[in-house]
Amino acid sequence: MRQSQLFTKTRKEAPADETSKNAQFLIRAGFINKEMAGVYTLLPLGFSVVNKIKKIVNEEMNALGSQEILMSTIQPKEVWEVTDRWDSEKVDVWFKSILKNGTEIGFGWSHEEPITNMLKSHISSYVDLPVYVHQFQTKLRNEERAKSGVMRGREFVMKDMYSYARDEKEHMDFYNKTIDSYKRVFDRLGLGNATYVTTASGGVFSDKFSHEFQTICEAGEDNIYVHKDGKMALNEEVFNDKTLLDLGVSKEDFEFKKAAEIGNIFTFGTKKCEEIGLYFTDKDGNKKPVYLGSYGIGITRVMGVIAEVFSDNKGLVWPKEVSPFNVHLVRLGNSDASLAFADRLYTELESKGVEVLYDDRDLRPGEKFADSDLIGIPVRFVVSDKTVAENKIEVKYRTSAEAELLSETDALKIL
Ligand code: ATP
Ligand code: MG
Repeated sequence: MRQSQLFTKTRKEAPADETSKNAQFLIRAGFINKEMAGVYTLLPLGFSVVNKIKKIVNEEMNALGSQEILMSTIQPKEVWEVTDRWDSEKVDVWFKSILKNGTEIGFGWSHEEPITNMLKSHISSYVDLPVYVHQFQTKLRNEERAKSGVMRGREFVMKDMYSYARDEKEHMDFYNKTIDSYKRVFDRLGLGNATYVTTASGGVFSDKFSHEFQTICEAGEDNIYVHKDGKMALNEEVFNDKTLLDLGVSKEDFEFKKAAEIGNIFTFGTKKCEEIGLYFTDKDGNKKPVYLGSYGIGITRVMGVIAEVFSDNKGLVWPKEVSPFNVHLVRLGNSDASLAFADRLYTELESKGVEVLYDDRDLRPGEKFADSDLIGIPVRFVVSDKTVAENKIEVKYRTSAEAELLSETDALKIL
């Protein structure tokens, strides 16, 4: 993409009410546009990052045997009344509306109820199970406070997966496989080192429990305790004498950290399927309730957390797996020679399938470098009169201070 054609412009200032680093940089660099508190548009650069995150998540969910669907946002109140989750006193994030004929509807803040209800039409026998489905869906939640940009929005993209299993073993096997799958997802997203699986509400040894995936991050809203061996972390709510005793660990070995929840998995046992009436007939003809598990990843929150965790004082720093482009080709000077060299290199890279943002604009070098640092593509190629004279390219990683002059062949090897 030629940067002269990219309709978004970088900005010197972010809106005054955006105090988090991720929101400031994402807005200033033109990844997102703020519509109102907690509501953001994905601009081309942000849309690209979100699509890359989705692709990685989708690959891993498919590898678990899950099938992708897309459920409706508009939902009938009846399926939520069955489980007593329609009442706004009980679920305080509902957005609701009324049809012209007076029918009340809700906008999906989650999908356990409608999907379980829908599956009653498709599951009746043990041969129909297990079923694993997931979707990438825009959730609407009337959050009391929007915070930290896309990290807590009122409209956000979530990956939600649901597992339907015949018995506890099948259910727990999948639940545990998902924990490993999520670890792979967060490794691939570049967040592996900063992310901990925490045991959340319910505690380790009760049958109703959940796990959270928490990324160490100052802008996060959660408090966790990380064990000094780095392998174990506990949520504040379960960090008590009983849990520590159960686990055979001592309080002093834990360190307090701020963290952001990027994923959350939990089991409903058979409770929800019993309430909604999702049963199957087993081999011996007995009617049994289905086991349900629910597995979320906050896709747009992940973008915010990556922006938050990796940025520096100059701007964003994308891990290569989710960067909107593989390389930022920056042309300095307007001589025929550098113009020809940069144009040719751009065409060459594109023809090799490299995703290039080509800064072909007539701006001062300082402005170009500032924009490049703000946007945060991991590798920068600079073509100038000086580099062209030596038949070289100046290569710099976003994370390093020094640049190096490389031949075109060596520069291409990096990509
Ligand atoms: P939180 O405690 O942060 O409100 P939650 O427990 O409500 O999260 P879930 O309902 O399990 O979260 O949603 C699954 C995932 O969706 C979360 O782990 C988080 O990454 C993301 N998520 C939840 N609420 C929001 C929001 N308001 N904005 C952006 N992402 C969100
Ligand atoms: Mg919430």
